Parts: sequence; structure tokens; C-alpha cells
Amino acid sequence: MVAVDTETMGLDHRRDRLCLIQLSSGNGIVHLVQFVPERLGGRGYDSPNLKALLTNPGVRKLFHFARFDLAALHGAFGIDVAPALCTKIAAKLVRTFTDRHGLKDLCRELLGVDISKQQQTSDWGAANLSPEQQAYAASDVLHLHALWEKLRALLIREDRLELAEACFRFLPARARLDLMGYTDPDIFQH
Ligand code: MN
Repeated sequence: MVAVDTETMGLDHRRDRLCLIQLSSGNGIVHLVQFVPERLGGRGYDSPNLKALLTNPGVRKLFHFARFDLAALHGAFGIDVAPALCTKIAAKLVRTFTDRHGLKDLCRELLGVDISKQQQTSDWGAANLSPEQQAYAASDVLHLHALWEKLRALLIREDRLELAEACFRFLPARARLDLMGYTDPDIFQH
């Protein structure tokens, strides 16, 4: 299982390009893969190794708010990332006593770890990312494995693991709906 996160120029997939992918196997090491169009001289990205990993059926990809990252990755590479898991969906399924499902809240409440969100809105398109940006980007995947273990135990306790897995299987389709513009109201709404 690989923890994955992305940073983009902003929140609109049609407008805002992919800038960075963060990957961690859960061993405390994070790999940052940066996308800088100017270094390619207008050639576009192929990224065969990344695409192979992100679509490998034998490797689970763990996200927090996978819906956004899957749409960004589909927009950038034309791939359905699968199988994908999402700690935000897991949290929403079991932590129904709160509406705080942000990564910072979950890390604090379930792991006792404080992560900073200070660099969240910084310029991820910069050719040279600052040490602060790199540390922030890394912290977004560094704790996902531990978080998933806590949430998985809660999903089992509340007998909702199977439901969570069904939600996870739908994520690639949900991401494609977002890219097509089926966002608000979404197709399940009356
Ligand atoms: Mn992030």
C-alpha cells in the first residue's frame, strides 16, 4: 500500500495543473515527484513508471480526500487510479459524532500528531520548492498508513469496512464525474 497525495495550482481541474505528487510506502520516507513544464520545453509528461504504479491492481493507493487527487491524476495522465482508499471517507463513515474530518484534525485526534497546514495555499508551480513547502508536502502522506490502521479498526468495530470498500471502488468513477462537471448537485441528489 502506497500513500499518495498531489499538489496542484488550485482547485479547478480544468484550469489548475498538477505540480507535485508525494509518495510513501509507510516507512517514514516520502518521495516528491515534481512537474515543471518549462523544463520539458512544451513536451508534456509521459511518466510511465508513475502510471504503472498508480494503476497496478496489486498495489493499493491510500489518499486523504481521494476524490480530488484521482481527478487531478486522471486529468494529468488519463488514468483511473485503482485500487484506491480514502481516509476521509473512512473517517466520515465511522466518526459520525463530529464533522471534522480534515487531515490535521484526524492526525491530532487519532495519532496525537500535529501537522501544519501553513503551506497549503502556497505556489506549488514554483520551479524550486522551499524547504517549508517540501516538508509540508511530505507531511500530507507521512501519517496516512498509521491513520488508516486506526480508521480500519473503527470500520471493523462499527461493521462498516465492507461499505467503505464499496465506496472506495466507486472513487475512479466519482473522479471522472467531477472532471465532466457533474459536481454540485451530484447525480445522487434528488
Ligand atoms: Mn496535500
